[in-house]
Amino acid sequence: MGKNIFVTRASMPPFEEYVEEIKELWDTHILTNMGVKHKELEKKLENYLHVKNVSLMVNGHMALELAIQAMNLTGEVITTPFTFASTTHAIVRNGLTPVFCDIDPETYTMDPDKIEELITERTSAIIPVHVYGNICNTERIEGIAKKYGLKVIYDAAHAFGEEYNNIGVGNFGDASIFSFHATKVFNTIEGGAVCFHDNEYGRDLYRLKNFGIQGPETVDYVGANAKMNEFQAAMGICNLRYVDKEIEKREKVYQHYVKRLQRLSGVQLMKLQKNIKYNYAYFPVVFHDEVFGVNRDQVFNMLASEGFYTRKYFYPLTSTYECYRDRFDGNTTPIALSISKKILTLPIYAELNLSIVDRICNLIVGIKKDYE
Ligand SMILES: *Cc1c(COP(=O)(O)O)cnc(C)c1O
Repeated sequence: MGKNIFVTRASMPPFEEYVEEIKELWDTHILTNMGVKHKELEKKLENYLHVKNVSLMVNGHMALELAIQAMNLTGEVITTPFTFASTTHAIVRNGLTPVFCDIDPETYTMDPDKIEELITERTSAIIPVHVYGNICNTERIEGIAKKYGLKVIYDAAHAFGEEYNNIGVGNFGDASIFSFHATKVFNTIEGGAVCFHDNEYGRDLYRLKNFGIQGPETVDYVGANAKMNEFQAAMGICNLRYVDKEIEKREKVYQHYVKRLQRLSGVQLMKLQKNIKYNYAYFPVVFHDEVFGVNRDQVFNMLASEGFYTRKYFYPLTSTYECYRDRFDGNTTPIALSISKKILTLPIYAELNLSIVDRICNLIVGIKKDYE
């Protein structure tokens, strides 16, 4: 048996290239506080993502917390429980109440048909997630938002570099946030960003990430410290040079899984939409045990015993976390609840060898055969 295989593996530029990139920091001794690398990466990302404005943050979670804070929301926010902890926590940590909308059973994104029934006079925003890089139905969501005067912030942590109808994904809604965590398609070690249209909003974000400081003697917001430092930005500048190649390689891995698993009964693969340019960040598989014969947890344990570490993304639903006990109820979103118990994300990253993909697929095919 070879080495253990994990669900993802951080992309890193050649060592010498990173060293070259950070060399000048030893001349300037400016290590953070929106330095030259920070400014350069913001410009490069605006260009790469085809968006008007990018505000870099120390991580994706703070990007979301501050994107929400700068919007001055109140009351309730309609969101999805089928996501990473960050989305729900960012809403709650802003003193707002998440109201959970169910998801579409094929794309796993927020079901636009179920949004309107959740709107009350306390609703101030919708915060959907482009889960696994599947872009939400932005036309429908933004149509509803307009009708009721709601703000829209997309959690685009999974959708770096994607396009929907040839539009960069960061352009949708009032703001969109990205995560540049080590495990994501593009990384700055830890990092994140908010994309936005409104300059006033951008000015507020800039202050909020630096303690709310307006000038040397004026602090006009209760801000946080969410500044991306120069070493993070330098990592981003280097990684950005390779990201297109990485996505191309991911697509090969993705398509190989599809080829091997698509005809297996009881196995549901993600439905790719024609008008999306994907980044192939994740390979989620739903195991319908009634048909497949073996349940998700059995597949997870079998693969782990062979050294393949998959993830139960997203299980449990955020609405069923211990910290939210007695506050929310997973049964209000039955489709999300059911999928969360059946889904597994398989290893995918640029350097993942197709022979390893074959071994994983052979094991999955094999466990079904053993049962039959
Ligand atoms: C990764 C992730 C985040 C948070 O990003 P960090 O950079 O890890 O703070 C937020 N939302 C989703 C859906 C994510 O996957």
